[in-house]
Amino acid sequence: MPIIELFDICKTYHIGEVETRALDGVSLSFEPGEFTAIVGPSGSGKTTLLQIMGCLDRPDRGVVKLDGRDVTRLNADQRAELRRNVIGFIFQFFALIPVLDAYENVELPLLLAGVGARERRERTLEMLAAVGLSDRIHHRPNQLSGGQQQRVAIARALVKRPLVVLADEPTANLDTVNGEQAMEIMQRLNEQTGTAFIFATHDPRVMKFARRTIHLVDGRVAENNVATKVANAL
Ligand code: ADP
Repeated sequence: MPIIELFDICKTYHIGEVETRALDGVSLSFEPGEFTAIVGPSGSGKTTLLQIMGCLDRPDRGVVKLDGRDVTRLNADQRAELRRNVIGFIFQFFALIPVLDAYENVELPLLLAGVGARERRERTLEMLAAVGLSDRIHHRPNQLSGGQQQRVAIARALVKRPLVVLADEPTANLDTVNGEQAMEIMQRLNEQTGTAFIFATHDPRVMKFARRTIHLVDGRVAENNVATKVANAL
């Protein structure tokens, strides 16, 4: 069963008299374990698409199914719960909580989900080790490099073992070395855990990691290359 299905999604923004059609009839389907890039020029609708897929925003028209459930029919609380259980997010500017150290940032989703203390500790340390940060657990974000901050964000996105991680321009604020390292870590975690990754990017260094590429132009799907290999298909 697909983890995310989109049927004829449309989204128009209005600012004063100006109308921008950000998405114009997008239909797509994503399978468990994918490692997929959504590419396209700036303004082509990538962020809007990820936000709608992640229930952070709602389409004007069309249906979004997450893990088989029609999210357009759920109320705000049900949507938020489904989002918390199914999706992890990674953002361009890391979006870590500045007053929390690396350990506390990664632990937070487990704390909010009511996971017990011992399991929380095990899973938090395991994720920090998986992103190579066991020696930085008590550093706060401003005491970490950009690459290290994004690795904390990757650990935080994965700690609840989501079905899918949505990443919006995850390497845009990283240099080449750190960008590639972040992609390699995501690729390894994709293969080890079977979590699907869908990332928006216009960075050729990121595109080359993708097993499937979806091209957006002016809010429409211009090209949709289906995956040739799916990691640990569930
Ligand atoms: P991308 O991520 O590919 O750069 P976006 O999804 O951010 O594209 O934007 C698609 C279009 O919608 C752009 O023309 C952008 O200016 C417009 N847009 C995005 N968000 C908003 C918003 N909150 N209000 C008004 N227009 C927006």
